[in-house]
Amino acid sequence: MGKMRNVAIVGGGVTGTALYNVLAEYTNVRDVLLIEQHPGLARLNSNSKWNSQTLHEGDIETNYSRDRVPQVKDAAGLVANYASHLPETQIVRRCPKMVLGVDSEEIDLIWNRWDSVQDVFPALRFVEGKELALLEPKVMEDRTESAAALYSNNGYAVAFDKLSYSFAYGTDKKDKGFDIALETRVNAIEKTKDGHVIKTNKGDVEARAVVISSGTTSLAFAHRLGYGHGLGALPVAGNFYYGQTDRGEALVRSKVYTVQNDKLPFAALHADPDINAPDKTRFGPTARLLPAFERYNARTSLEFVREFGIDGDVALAVGKLLVDEDTGPFIARNALYDAPFIGKRVFLDEARKIVPALKPQNIKFAKGVGGIRHQLVDKRNHTLGKKEAKVVGNGIIFNMTPSPGATSCLQNAENDAKTIVGLLGDPLEFDQAAFDRNLRLPDPLA
Ligand SMILES: Cc1cc2nc3c(=O)[nH]c(=O)nc-3n(C[C@H](O)[C@H](O)[C@H](O)COP(=O)(O)OP(=O)(O)OC[C@H]3O[C@@H](n4cnc5c(N)ncnc54)[C@H](O)[C@@H]3O)c2cc1C
Repeated sequence: MGKMRNVAIVGGGVTGTALYNVLAEYTNVRDVLLIEQHPGLARLNSNSKWNSQTLHEGDIETNYSRDRVPQVKDAAGLVANYASHLPETQIVRRCPKMVLGVDSEEIDLIWNRWDSVQDVFPALRFVEGKELALLEPKVMEDRTESAAALYSNNGYAVAFDKLSYSFAYGTDKKDKGFDIALETRVNAIEKTKDGHVIKTNKGDVEARAVVISSGTTSLAFAHRLGYGHGLGALPVAGNFYYGQTDRGEALVRSKVYTVQNDKLPFAALHADPDINAPDKTRFGPTARLLPAFERYNARTSLEFVREFGIDGDVALAVGKLLVDEDTGPFIARNALYDAPFIGKRVFLDEARKIVPALKPQNIKFAKGVGGIRHQLVDKRNHTLGKKEAKVVGNGIIFNMTPSPGATSCLQNAENDAKTIVGLLGDPLEFDQAAFDRNLRLPDPLA
């Protein structure tokens, strides 16, 4: 693997590939190596089977604080603008979206939400009654309670795996000394005088700047190198059910989110058109504690336990969630969704909040669909972090990317590219004007 690189990026998901792209397109940095352990890119959480494919903008996510909205919207806008430069592809699809409020308390809540974000999202509308039934007939069919929604035509469904391929291979980067090493597993990283040496199954790589965008394993790498000890990881697996009408069609055309519990960082159950299966609706994700780095890979459960052990601070954070009157029942219910026989029954009750007329034969457990979120835990306060996190060390950056980490890929890349250019020094620069011109303007979500 030879020569000294300027930058090594560990992780070929949407975070690592976005940085690979931004360094090539908007900086004059040369000699960059992207290292990925699997034979292809984006096989884990960035795979469109493993996540909900939503570009989160902050309008229908009632658990995002008002303060956070401009930042999330900016991140989403970068991805939407990137996609607008692509030829007609299946990478990104325009898709209407809504957050549904059921009964007066939730309807009041979404009305107030609308009031507080209308200035940022002028296209967002409050809809109810016949209009809601026209937009989403199945959401209103057989409904006995009152319902209303905040609705927008400005949503996007994203195949983040295809996006990763576009970032990595969409333009030729070879002449800039950019390379991708697949099937290359990073086992250890050590600090050297000039940067870091990365020890892989295919030999050592030396780099002046290193970015760890390895998803669930990023925090473990940080801990090993003496960083991020105030953070712990709570691994939460998500499953999905597929839903179809009796005639084998999708049940909804919009992304239908529900009001979220703002004590929890992950989305409440929602129904989404599947970007890869237009005749199906995906209900989920569920949330179940599952110690592992990778879904469907038992070996990584052992690795997880070896790496983090039984962490008392994370256990305390979970204890706090379990005794809470809102989050306790949520966790208990979610634990049941995977149980044989009753799992589907309990899930059906929950999914009927979105499609009241849903019958058992209309839903089916989606096998092999759903990844694993490593929610960050603040070990001092024993609370769950509500978003992604970045730890910047000496010549090394660690990206921890629970949801909405995929949405944030280009914003993360912009920040990391600037840090790298600053670290490597003159004559390297980040072309902010070109970045803004191509990816920030005009606002595609206005
Ligand atoms: C159920 C679920 C639903 C979600 N829904 C959404 C959503 O709708 N919208 C959204 O924005 N986000 C969503 N997310 C979050 C989103 O999937 C992640 O934030 C995003 O995919 C993270 O991308 P990443 O590149 O950082 O990590 P990953 O996609 O996990 O990629 C990390 C890469 O690093 C590689 N790697 C790891 N360790 C090593 C090593 N030692 N050596 C070499 N390579 C290594 C892995 O093989 C992998 O390819 C969801 C997540 C889940 C689980």
